[in-house]
Amino acid sequence: MKLNILILVYILSLTFVTQVIALFVQYRVNRTYRGIGWWLLGSTLMALGYIFMPTLTVKSLETLSRLANLLLVLGQIFLYIGIMRFLDKKENRWILLLIFASFVLFYYYNMYIDNDLSARTVVLTATLATILLITAYQLFFKKDKLISGSANFTAAIFLAYGCFIIMRTLFALLLPPMLSYFDQTPILILSLTVPIIISTLWTYGFIIMVNQRLNAENCEEKEKFQLVFNTSPDAAMITQLKDGLIVDVNIGFSVITGYTRTEVLGDSTLRIRFWHNSVDRQGFITELKDKGVCTNMEFNFHRKDGSQFVGTISARIIVIQAIPHIISVIHDITERKQTEAALRDSEEKYRSILNASPDDITITDLEGHILMISPAAKKMFGYEPKYDGFIGMQVVDFILPEDRERAQANIRQMYQGGHPRPNEYRGVRKDLSIFDIEVNSGFIYSANGQPIKMVFIVRDITARKMAEKQIQVLVQQLGTEKDIAQFNSMTDSLTGLANRRYFDEALRTEFHRSKRSGSALSLIMLDVDHFKKFNDSYGHLAGDDCLRQIGSTLTAIVGRVPDIVARYGGEEFVVILPETEDNGAETLAERIRKAVEELAIPHSASDFAKYVTVSLGIVTVHTTGLTSPEQIVALADEALYCAKKRGRNQVAVVTQ
Ligand code: GH3
Ligand code: MG
Ligand code: MG
Repeated sequence: MKLNILILVYILSLTFVTQVIALFVQYRVNRTYRGIGWWLLGSTLMALGYIFMPTLTVKSLETLSRLANLLLVLGQIFLYIGIMRFLDKKENRWILLLIFASFVLFYYYNMYIDNDLSARTVVLTATLATILLITAYQLFFKKDKLISGSANFTAAIFLAYGCFIIMRTLFALLLPPMLSYFDQTPILILSLTVPIIISTLWTYGFIIMVNQRLNAENCEEKEKFQLVFNTSPDAAMITQLKDGLIVDVNIGFSVITGYTRTEVLGDSTLRIRFWHNSVDRQGFITELKDKGVCTNMEFNFHRKDGSQFVGTISARIIVIQAIPHIISVIHDITERKQTEAALRDSEEKYRSILNASPDDITITDLEGHILMISPAAKKMFGYEPKYDGFIGMQVVDFILPEDRERAQANIRQMYQGGHPRPNEYRGVRKDLSIFDIEVNSGFIYSANGQPIKMVFIVRDITARKMAEKQIQVLVQQLGTEKDIAQFNSMTDSLTGLANRRYFDEALRTEFHRSKRSGSALSLIMLDVDHFKKFNDSYGHLAGDDCLRQIGSTLTAIVGRVPDIVARYGGEEFVVILPETEDNGAETLAERIRKAVEELAIPHSASDFAKYVTVSLGIVTVHTTGLTSPEQIVALADEALYCAKKRGRNQVAVVTQ
């Protein structure tokens, strides 16, 4: 029987050694996972524990056998730590230490102080059961979802073994105390047989857990790769390095090239004439072989329909099943190239317009920073044609500081959709001289209608401004001349009095005013007596002088503002007296007659007086009964005729 037990222990030791080997291989193969090292250590300690057991029978080595169970407990603790590490969880060291310390204390107490085999067995089995159950619990409840199958399997094994060990504890407690290890042989056989199976199973469990995690992670990686590979809008493909055989392409490849995945798989990039120039591929391969990677190399490629596109290719060499492959990603930059070309084209157009324009054309960004400026502008502002210091400066920096705020307000208005008008400012040249400019501004729009730049067309308007000033002076001059002409047209040049034309207009005005107001209007008509004779006697010049004197006398006597004195023609004068009744007019006429007489201008040829005299005809009308001003003149003339007829040098009145 003893022999059988020993054989069992050897088998058990061998089982553990086998497991140690398996775990060692696993540890070497997969060091990235934490915990495997602890399992290896734990299994090694347990293997040693079982190996030490038979030394009980060898006197000299008996001490080793006393360590056997300690190693078993420690090994079991290490397996637990390994599991916790593998699950990426932290084990509670203090609890483990407490369990271990309690075990050491009670176990060795019952060995050296109170040699009680049954108590020792209880301490050992209770400790092992505790660790096993904690292990099962942690595995079951704290496991990673990726490895749930294998973790459940391993947890079940630990649980089963834990239950078995509890049963053993109960046996040790309930059965009569053991005096020798071999007292309860059937139980002993069982407790040595079960671990052979159980430990093998949990080692399997460990290995399966590692495999399941590896597998899950691989799947995850593969899925991620597939996702990245297929969701990339760029064309991605995996080809064989040696012959360009296409192993895989993504959806982006189909979108860009027009080939379906099945069409190109198994074909080669050269056969489908993917490279526009097969020499390009050689260059690309050489670069790849030299550096292992290549980034953003630009080449021309063919689509399925034979059309060309420009792409940048980034690639690296990967080894799939020991065969070097290239994984490459091609970014289609045809559109970018076209946009760049269009931009270059439009920039060139701008530049040629700028260079050819006689005007200052300035292009700025939306903040007003100068981007381009025409040579004419440089010249206008007094700079050398090659000077480029304007670039980046604010466009308003070139106008007089006093005008800048207005300029900025105008730009703001342009932003708000205001209709851009030409604005005038004062520009400042390099030599700080100031000149007049006219600025027309507008936006340059992008293809989608967004304003992207501003353009300012600046014109030197110095000459125009000068011309405008000259015109202004001319206009002023003309105005004065016109006034003079107008004055002249209304004035009698000999006497300085109002002339006949003025009189006619004034009488018409007063006639209508009187018609509206119903007030009286008087008119005096004056004629120099025997003036023909005066002229004949004293000469024409003396006659003129005489007329001037009479004119001055009239002006002096007729002082009221609305009254108008005019020379009617020849040696005849008229006085319009608005709102004047007949007696007022008569008095005034008499005063005139007397005043002229008192001038005492000698008139020897007069047949009734020594001096020049005048005859005056007066009419006072209420215009309501009249239809035209000429009727008043006719009446005054009639009165004058009366005065002449009655003997001259007198006043005659006619009534309406
Ligand atoms: P009566 O007393 O009837 O008015 O006789 P009269 O000689 O004054 O009248 P008449 O109509 O025959 O002559 C008017 C003269 O007045 C004729 C013309 O020589 C003279 N006369 C008219 N205008 C001027 C003038 O501007 N200057 C001068 N010096 N004489 C003028
Ligand atoms: Mg006359
Ligand atoms: Mg006369």
